Amino acid sequence: MTPETAFPTTFDADVSAATKAFLAAPPRLLIGGRMVPANSGRTIEVVDPGTGQVITHSAAADASDADAAVRAARRAFDPSSPWRRMSALDRGRIIERIARLLETHAEEFIELEVLDAGKLRSAAAEVDLPLSIKHLEYFAGWPSKIEGNTIPVSVPDTMVRTEREPVGVVAQIVPWNYPLLMAIWKMAPALAAGCTIILKPAENTPLSALRFGQLALEAGLPDGVLNILTGYGAEAGEALVDHPGVDKIAFTGSTVVGQRIAQRAATQIKRVTLELGGKSPNIIFADSPAQEAATGAASAIFFNAGQACAAGSRLYIESRVFDDVVGKLSDIASTMTVGHGLVSGSEIGPVISARQHERVRGYIDGALADGATLSAGGSALPDATNPNGYYIRPTVLTNVNDSMTAVREEIFGPVVVAQPFDDLEEIARRANDSPYGLAAGIWTKDISRANRLARLLQAGTVYINMYGATDAAAPFGGYKRSGYGRDMGHANLESYLETKTVWTSLAP
Ligand code: NAP
Ligand code: MG
Repeated sequence: MTPETAFPTTFDADVSAATKAFLAAPPRLLIGGRMVPANSGRTIEVVDPGTGQVITHSAAADASDADAAVRAARRAFDPSSPWRRMSALDRGRIIERIARLLETHAEEFIELEVLDAGKLRSAAAEVDLPLSIKHLEYFAGWPSKIEGNTIPVSVPDTMVRTEREPVGVVAQIVPWNYPLLMAIWKMAPALAAGCTIILKPAENTPLSALRFGQLALEAGLPDGVLNILTGYGAEAGEALVDHPGVDKIAFTGSTVVGQRIAQRAATQIKRVTLELGGKSPNIIFADSPAQEAATGAASAIFFNAGQACAAGSRLYIESRVFDDVVGKLSDIASTMTVGHGLVSGSEIGPVISARQHERVRGYIDGALADGATLSAGGSALPDATNPNGYYIRPTVLTNVNDSMTAVREEIFGPVVVAQPFDDLEEIARRANDSPYGLAAGIWTKDISRANRLARLLQAGTVYINMYGATDAAAPFGGYKRSGYGRDMGHANLESYLETKTVWTSLAP
């Protein structure tokens, strides 16, 4: 089945011929080095969240497609395969070549992320692409530095050494908020370790991962090392989780799906790492310059329309500056230009889907029904030129308390709840009163106080007088129900390696 492509004419002039050609190609999966149709014959509409228009279709992989992808990945992991026989240095060179190709094709990826995920062009160009490229560059240096140890055991006449080996075939399941970057966070360390991969992008955002798979082949990655399986989580995703040919699952997404994956994987003792949700506290002390803190708080929650796992969604402001900082934050929120990512001047784009639009609005309405006050935003705002896009005005809610749903649950949209606090022990306790523990922010000129609080917070990442930065070298992940394992840094590489201990008798 080859569905017709209904590329929206609205932005025809803003999109390159290369991207149009990619969108016009029939829906395919990448399995064993070839673009193949799904066995199911079914497809999924790919929607531009900024216009609500269908821009192309992706293939809906079923269990038989997942099986084909796992078989291809297993063949590519065979001890005699080109990938396994390749030197560590050459493995690094291929990752580096992929980075260079991504740089050459950056414009296409920016367009795909804008059209598929509803990103601002500027954000995709300044954040998603450069971070993706740097991530590949960082991990390109690792393969030749993976080393074992010699161990001074007390057993006489023996030599003991450890060797590090790739864990095997890994299934990587990622969400839609940073489609390319989340995929590369997963793929780069797995490739560096020498694993083979089946990546399942989110059904909402299948495009950049598929295009990336094509570039990886062009860079010389052997067939079957990277397979891209588009489709539904409940179908393609679960088939991968349950497949006995998969050795490890790396997942980024919601806490409820993470729990389900960990449970199913436990039956086969599969290795699992989970990067899950968050409801991260962002804490502003009174000595912090109000405008700076308000600007920091705004970008912590409104960047990517609030669809960031580490978004600073629970704002706590010291009582005596509460009104001042909330006022400045609300001014920023009320004057932000909401619009399509391809329109220059847009400062906040749409949320990902009609479903998410409804969900976020439900949280705002629920908070108001619970007695919260709207300091800014609060409504869906159809962009005048794109009435069917999934826009929501940046929203600030006050008069909330720690037991309200809007304060406890992850909204994953441009909505911040702001509350006052009075002292450090109190705020540490309230900040930690959450099932999540992904990130936290602290704003104060008093650096020893900031670090005292940083030690008390149960969060995988703490930002002091800044918010939201990530770097390929700096571990990132959650405490508590925000998951386990770390993305980035050498901590991440470890999760793709097994340790083999080799004993040798030296007895004469
Ligand atoms: P989600 O529903 O959990 O989906 C994530 C991925 O899992 C998608 O590819 C999804 O496929 C797939 N999936 C769904 N059900 C599955 C199942 N039963 N078995 C296997 N795979 C399944 O999460 P989301 O709503 O897309 O993403 C938002 C969440 O991700 C938020 O909670 C956010 O905090 C979290 N997140 C965390 C981090 C981090 O690093 N900690 C980073 C980004 C996002 P479909 O697309 O078909 O549903
Ligand atoms: Mg889309």
